Amino acid sequence: MVRKGSPEISIAPARREALRRRLLAWYSQARRELPWRATRDPYRIWVAEIMLQQTRVAAVLPYYERFLERFPDPASLAAAPLEEVLAAWAGLGYYSRARNLHQAARRIASAGAFPSDYASLRALPGVGAYTAAAVASIAFGLPYAVVDGNVLRVLARLSADSGDIGAATTRRRLQAVAQQLLDRRRPGEFNQALMELGATVCLPRRPACAACPLERLCEARRRGHETELPRKRRPGAPTRITKTLLLIERGGRILLRKRHAGRLAGFWELPEAGELPGARLVRQCGEFRHAITSHDYRLRVVEADPAQVPDGFRWIPRARLPTLPLATTARKALALCAHAAQARTSEKVSRQSPC
Ligand code: SF4
Repeated sequence: MVRKGSPEISIAPARREALRRRLLAWYSQARRELPWRATRDPYRIWVAEIMLQQTRVAAVLPYYERFLERFPDPASLAAAPLEEVLAAWAGLGYYSRARNLHQAARRIASAGAFPSDYASLRALPGVGAYTAAAVASIAFGLPYAVVDGNVLRVLARLSADSGDIGAATTRRRLQAVAQQLLDRRRPGEFNQALMELGATVCLPRRPACAACPLERLCEARRRGHETELPRKRRPGAPTRITKTLLLIERGGRILLRKRHAGRLAGFWELPEAGELPGARLVRQCGEFRHAITSHDYRLRVVEADPAQVPDGFRWIPRARLPTLPLATTARKALALCAHAAQARTSEKVSRQSPC
């Protein structure tokens, strides 16, 4: 087994070749048909790769089609106002991805062509080593190995690497393994096959080794260590935060505030209780939880009537809300209050109706 701090792993050429052959044969049979796999258009592949960062395939699918319908190429994305791009992204989370996509589209549009080499792709805003390698290999057939969380897991098991998967040294070692294994004749397909194996067979808790095309080549499987790897240092417990959001409505208009800085810059939010001192709390809608990286929010939502409205807030007609980039917490709070109002109405109706 490879230990933390061990030098690079070397894989014998015959083993590499066998692994490529089995993996690609399996992929041609077992792959899921996904819209970004039916194209070599670098723009479409790039949009998919950005959306798929930290987001599940099932969550991305409806956004992907809608986004491409609205922004079918870099020029249309570059020409759109940022607010419209954020509105199309609202609900997918990690909004810096949408801002970077928009900024990068402007660069591509002004350059007049999509970058077609690794260095130029990597220079785009929001494009890291992973995305540059994915677009370079899938769209342009360039020999760059893609290493995401799924691939790291597969490689740690294949080579029985017991290093902490979160440590830079382990990642560098596995990146080198990925580059050795890469099929240079079909780099895009090979990368997608390894990612697919991690997403559908070599699962985090229960790897389906009996159905795995690499079972006979897998060192962790040979040693019976497949469920123990990869090793990961436990993160600390998330920070718990409790807040109260206020739903304030007058004549069909909702009081909102636009964020101008930070992760949610450009998004509209409901006021928090502390921002409107003296507001009268009218009725509770309910509460919900919202987790972001290491923070676990418990959000109480209350219909309220403010004593006064400080600068920085705006009254937005309800009808405009679907076209605005609303923060996820605001969307969840509005849905909660709508649900509570509906429940009150049904209760009233059932009380009034004769038995
Ligand atoms: S044999 Fe099991 S542990 Fe090894 S790569 Fe396949 S699914 Fe993963």
